[in-house]
Amino acid sequence: MFFRKKVGIDLGTANTLVYVAGEGIVLNEPTVVAYSIEDFHYRQGKKILAIGDEAKEMLGRTPGSIIVSRPMKEGVIADYSTTSAMITYFLKKALKRSVFWPEVMISIPGGSSQVEKRAVVAACKQAGASNVYLIEEPLAAAIGAKVPISQASGHMIVNIGGGTTEIAVISLGQLVVYKTVRVAGTKFDEAIMQILRKKYNIIIGERTAEEIKMKIGNALIDEDKPLRKIEVKGRDFQSGLPKIFEIDEKMISEAITRPLKAILEGIKEVLSQTPPELAADIVDKGIVLSGGSSLLTNIDKFITYYTNVPAFVVDEPLFCVIRGVGMTIENLDSFKEAIR
Ligand code: ADP
Ligand code: MG
Repeated sequence: MFFRKKVGIDLGTANTLVYVAGEGIVLNEPTVVAYSIEDFHYRQGKKILAIGDEAKEMLGRTPGSIIVSRPMKEGVIADYSTTSAMITYFLKKALKRSVFWPEVMISIPGGSSQVEKRAVVAACKQAGASNVYLIEEPLAAAIGAKVPISQASGHMIVNIGGGTTEIAVISLGQLVVYKTVRVAGTKFDEAIMQILRKKYNIIIGERTAEEIKMKIGNALIDEDKPLRKIEVKGRDFQSGLPKIFEIDEKMISEAITRPLKAILEGIKEVLSQTPPELAADIVDKGIVLSGGSSLLTNIDKFITYYTNVPAFVVDEPLFCVIRGVGMTIENLDSFKEAIR
């Protein structure tokens, strides 16, 4: 029997998810690739050692001859050959042996350039896709959040991922105003590493910073609640020796203020460019937050507080975009207006 599988891909800067029509989400792994810089083959290029979960384990733990990289930077393909090798690997893994020139739908940032779109299409084709459909990420997020996008009514979606925050106002199935801010989860991690080094003389790695953020990160501290604290292992900047120390919520909250403000400015800018009727709809319905970084404690309250527009986080924000991509490829006819 010959039939083509329909596959959805959310190629994020932090995580890649794959959806197979009729099956659901079958793969969810970090967008990370480890390769050797010693065995460079003149035709095949870099020798890839690990992809996804396995490669993320290696982050910050490799000898000099191995590089662990994130081939997607700020929402676009930064390293083309590694990205297409990674897509090939993920498709094979997701489709097992039933892979036969699948039809692929993949999300791209709102306002991607022609060059960026072509790179994504080429990477999917190289990975074996017969047909490639593109969908703008904010639209996919809205569909995944079950927002009725085809109505003549304004909806605001803010998808806060790893490398980028996508802010969009949607009406009649199209993006009316949109902006991509190149600040999201990774910038929070970097800010945490920086403040610990500068103010407290402590050196920690990227992964530890992310863990701290997930455990005690807070966008808007409630003065009435006791501060959460955790113990962290790192290195003392002066002595150079390993050290265990305690940090609290307030230190982390202070660190992430700046990237949070950058996201807020983006939201305000999009709101200020939104036609008044649509802005009124948004005030009624609220701002929809999706993406992994919308799991940061109180980020909804932070946005509500500084914009005066209610904001709320969707269910399972890490899966919102891939669900939308999956629903769209399963119902191509009803989502025609959303496909690029
Ligand atoms: P992308 O689409 O760019 O791959 P995701 O939507 O998968 O990004 O979100 C990944 C980001 O979400 C990472 O920066 C990660 O640290 C962050 N994240 C995941 N869970 C949490 C949490 N509980 N609190 C704060 N940030 C989180
Ligand atoms: Mg994403």
